[in-house]
Amino acid sequence: MSFNASSNRLRIVIAASEAVPFSKTGGLADVAGALVKSLGQLGHDVVLIIPDYFPMRRSANGIPPVDETGIQVTIRMKDRPVTATVNWSAIPGTEARVLLVRQPEYFDRRQPYGDGNGGFQDNCERFCFFSRVVPEICRQMVLRPDIIHCNDWQTGLIPALLNSQYAGTSGFARTATVMTIHNMAYQGRFWHFDMPLTGMPWRYFNHHQMESWNELNLLKTGLAFADQITTVSPTYAEEICTPDGGYGLDPVLRDRHADLTGILNGIDDVAWNPETDPLLPTGYTLDTRRAGKSRCKAHLQHRMQLPCFDEVPVIGMVSRMVDQKGFDLVMESAERLLNRNVQMVFLGTGDPYYEQMVRNLANRFPEQVAAQIGFDESLAHQIEAGADLFLMPSRFEPCGLNQMYSLRYGTVPVVRKVGGLADSVVHYDGQLASLETANGFVFTDYSVAAFAETVERALETLENETVWDRLIRNGMTRDWSWTGSAGHYLDVYRRALERVSDRRFEGRV
Ligand code: ADP
Repeated sequence: MSFNASSNRLRIVIAASEAVPFSKTGGLADVAGALVKSLGQLGHDVVLIIPDYFPMRRSANGIPPVDETGIQVTIRMKDRPVTATVNWSAIPGTEARVLLVRQPEYFDRRQPYGDGNGGFQDNCERFCFFSRVVPEICRQMVLRPDIIHCNDWQTGLIPALLNSQYAGTSGFARTATVMTIHNMAYQGRFWHFDMPLTGMPWRYFNHHQMESWNELNLLKTGLAFADQITTVSPTYAEEICTPDGGYGLDPVLRDRHADLTGILNGIDDVAWNPETDPLLPTGYTLDTRRAGKSRCKAHLQHRMQLPCFDEVPVIGMVSRMVDQKGFDLVMESAERLLNRNVQMVFLGTGDPYYEQMVRNLANRFPEQVAAQIGFDESLAHQIEAGADLFLMPSRFEPCGLNQMYSLRYGTVPVVRKVGGLADSVVHYDGQLASLETANGFVFTDYSVAAFAETVERALETLENETVWDRLIRNGMTRDWSWTGSAGHYLDVYRRALERVSDRRFEGRV
């Protein structure tokens, strides 16, 4: 079955390098898992294809059963055949199927992309393989997709394959591709001698298609070939078209501006629901949030071995510890902020340099600062619920999920005005009029002064119960679910399909 305008039921294949609940290093996994669910609930026929990081899956909780399909796919990687087996599973609560690509040599690892020493040496090979497997699975399983929705550089090769070796072949004649950029800073750049791993002829290694600054660039490849491009917030869609935000690919995006849409991510409002969240010591609603949050705060202070005082504001941060997230601003203002009677709680992992800085801060101020270095889903939820303020002073932030979790959990975010933070957090400027919509605090300059002043203003506002309540109410009552975003993706899919039918008359690339 292909796109049928009367039933409007689309066959959608989503290809991603990670997806909740099977694997997760960041927002991409949340988005992939939640989008599949929402599109499935809207009645579309959705298949999610992801690599099977077997050791990660085996040690994770709440993974649905995984069974063998009996299907094997063999791809010639340079001069050797490499075979994957395809397992399948389901996303609980939907009919959406999940296909897991099991290839032990490439994917039986505890981390999807790299370890403490940086990215894995064979990342180009691993994800070229994954990208080449996706259309082969579609072919062998006769999925006949209307849409293949690719995410980030790890799947950037797929649109190129669809436009070259699969063009016009049975099962793909009407397949459109959509490429979503979750983070422009990660492009999948490899030396040109990796080109044979892509299975694409060398003639595609040119500045308009797969090459950028003499390197193979897999994100650029996706951007050049996909029928439509999306990114994860309207503001980020504008930012990536500028030299500052485009990381060298802004000319490509400016060329394709008409095909570029920014769609703010939603959140998984079942997993992130303060009323029913099983990871919290107690659930709460807007009406019961005072008692609920105060219990969550006491629990958090206890867990993090901080003095348990309800009246001391807790400032939380859950984040990958990398340059992007503004840890330098936080570290440089920490002493100034800790002069006040506040506590700070950090959860994160990433760059050893920032990990150590955060550890040092906790060692110097054991009564006021607590840090956990690592990945911990339950603590992430407990910080969102137990903190009063949540920090996201990012240099850039394509969408950001944590500020939306904070808003839903009645925790007021302090964010920098970039990307999805600018699209979801409305600044309280101290004026009555702004209380209509304000739900947090926003600063613009990437400077210690601007950040610290904004946190201080937030702490002062916290003392005004009426205003604080209003900020929390504005955040907690807005719909942050996927329903709206999934509708926008469907609009993009339809535009992509129109482009394919036009192209059938004009010929492929
Ligand atoms: P990014 O994708 O850039 O890392 P997002 O805000 O879009 O940032 O998404 C981050 C996601 O990862 C959120 O769901 C956040 O709660 C989660 N997360 C990040 N670090 C940790 C951690 N150390 N432990 C648990 N969850 C984390």
